[in-house]
Amino acid sequence: MSMKYDVAIIGSGLGGLQCAYILAKKGLNVCVLEKNPIVGGCLQTFRRGQTEFDTGFHYVGGLDDGQPLNAIFQYFKLMNLPWHRLDSDAFDEVQIGGQSYFFANGYDRFADTLAEQFPHQRDNLKRYVAMLKNVGDGLKNSFKPRSEEEVFTQSLFTRSAYDFLCETITDPLLRNVLSGTSLKMELNRQTLPLYIFAQINSSFIQSAWRLNGGGQLIADELVASIEQMGGTVRTSAGVAELVERDGRLSTAILDNGEQVEAEWFISDIHPAATLDLIKESTQVRKIYRRRIGSLQNTFGMFTVNIALKDGAVPYLNRNQYVYRTNDVWSLADYAEGRPTEGILLSYRAEANQQFAHNVDILTPMYWPEVECWTDTQVGRRGAEYQQFKQQKAQECIALVAEVIPGFESAIDKQFSSTPLTYRDYTATAQGAAYGIRKDYNSPMQTLLTPRTPVPNLLLTGQNLNLHGILGVSMSSFFTCAEILGMASATDGLNFED
Ligand SMILES: Cc1cc2nc3c(=O)[nH]c(=O)nc-3n(C[C@H](O)[C@H](O)[C@H](O)COP(=O)(O)OP(=O)(O)OC[C@H]3O[C@@H](n4cnc5c(N)ncnc54)[C@H](O)[C@@H]3O)c2cc1C
Repeated sequence: MSMKYDVAIIGSGLGGLQCAYILAKKGLNVCVLEKNPIVGGCLQTFRRGQTEFDTGFHYVGGLDDGQPLNAIFQYFKLMNLPWHRLDSDAFDEVQIGGQSYFFANGYDRFADTLAEQFPHQRDNLKRYVAMLKNVGDGLKNSFKPRSEEEVFTQSLFTRSAYDFLCETITDPLLRNVLSGTSLKMELNRQTLPLYIFAQINSSFIQSAWRLNGGGQLIADELVASIEQMGGTVRTSAGVAELVERDGRLSTAILDNGEQVEAEWFISDIHPAATLDLIKESTQVRKIYRRRIGSLQNTFGMFTVNIALKDGAVPYLNRNQYVYRTNDVWSLADYAEGRPTEGILLSYRAEANQQFAHNVDILTPMYWPEVECWTDTQVGRRGAEYQQFKQQKAQECIALVAEVIPGFESAIDKQFSSTPLTYRDYTATAQGAAYGIRKDYNSPMQTLLTPRTPVPNLLLTGQNLNLHGILGVSMSSFFTCAEILGMASATDGLNFED
């Protein structure tokens, strides 16, 4: 006899687990179906020898009392995890042209700190942070239906982040400094909506945090809560097909042929991959498939995970972004054979904070750079691929050496991954770091809502609205509101004023 659930959820990324949590909390019988042996998607932590590394997650913003992500994580019972606050005088450091600039927490302090190096831009910096504060403060109103906030948010999705920056900040160097921590989004001049730029930057300016133990803790904690509330989370349970009957989805067929029935289906995987699972449908027209299939994805990431020799590199309680170009926005323009021009260096949080145990180096990497190895599998991609990775890793390490002299001799072991690795471990289309590329020129086309043409199939996760921990969390409520209504979905979510 096959089990029938109220809601079956495809994918155990942050979005899938949060939806399961919200729905289970309201008494629905939920089942999360995860293809991998490990839950979490981009939150996964993995081990190489004695050392633990993170897949995607590195830091979050807005976790202090009264800040938006704090309220959201209180709701999900995630505030008890070992959160570790980054240096509030300098949570991020941007190095351009050999000069360092520091980001401080608090809107005023952020502006004042940078104004010391850019005194002629003080008023512009004030205007810049006022805008970011406005967007950050407005986040809580997004959960009120048809609010003025909704209109405001939509208008920011139709504006260019780059144009806003040019209009507000007249010094080009300062524009690049302000953009310099934005490897956490795709800084694309032609497409990036102001909302994404402002909301993400705003969140980190409020406060910035690492997690002592890695992103896996978030996923594991959510699974424990879901199970406690009577929900089911299954791993090694990939969905191979979604079956439609009488205009609604009825069944998920798993890779092993097993059938799982449900009233509702939520997909936390890429919308195009979701549609691929529906082989026959009276609801999904060709034109919709074509529209979803033609959406562009953001860039992927090349990551070097480094285990350091004992006592070789002091732990730094901030992130370092190092650039070899003074045009930070150009990193999003793919050009063949281009050298590495910017990296993020992230230190893993340490209980004993004197020395760093391991660090990650991240830099954008475009799909065409690895496309020739599309048909290969992890560990069997051949010598040329190994060589390509080695070369890229060397370039990344050379950039780190600009902030940590002699860095190379501090390396014990190094591992690297490309968008192909992400594709194979997190099943993201083209290993895109941040899902579908949202475009301010065509917000109606690129900003998907949770609804699909199939009435009982909903979308969630980073491909809607905003990516990242904050954005995915917001979308989880929007998705569940389609089933529960907004008031019920956000019951227990309390933003302090
Ligand atoms: C390199 C990198 C660095 C990042 N750094 C940060 C950061 O510092 N801070 C931050 O806030 N955000 C960061 N992000 C973004 C953040 O990690 C993601 O936005 C978020 O975790 C995405 O969650 P998701 O729910 O959309 O889906 P995903 O994490 O993509 O999960 C989807 C899940 O679905 C599963 N799946 C796929 N196909 C199937 C199938 N057919 N059947 C069953 N299961 C399936 C996958 O295995 C996966 O587990 C980073 C991302 C990357 C890639």
